Amino acid sequence: MPFFLLGYYFMQHTCEECGKQYKHAKNLDRHKRFECKREKKFHCLYCDYAGYQKIHVNVHISRRHKDMMDPNIFI
Ligand SMILES: [Zn+2]
Ligand SMILES: [Zn+2]
Repeated sequence: MPFFLLGYYFMQHTCEECGKQYKHAKNLDRHKRFECKREKKFHCLYCDYAGYQKIHVNVHISRRHKDMMDPNIFI
């Protein structure tokens, strides 16, 4: 394998948060600062809603899916 390809192959920069890979450190840096934290990671169990933070989803569920949270519904 040519030297430049070897370097290319090993120069992978991986985001510890989401596992995305970038060939250039500056792209990973940009991803971490502007993209990664902005991705909606937390999803509602009952609908398509997704939030940036778990607390947002919890608030959403308590407001929109109050009936589903009622333990009596499972009896
Ligand atoms: Zn990431
Ligand atoms: Zn929902």
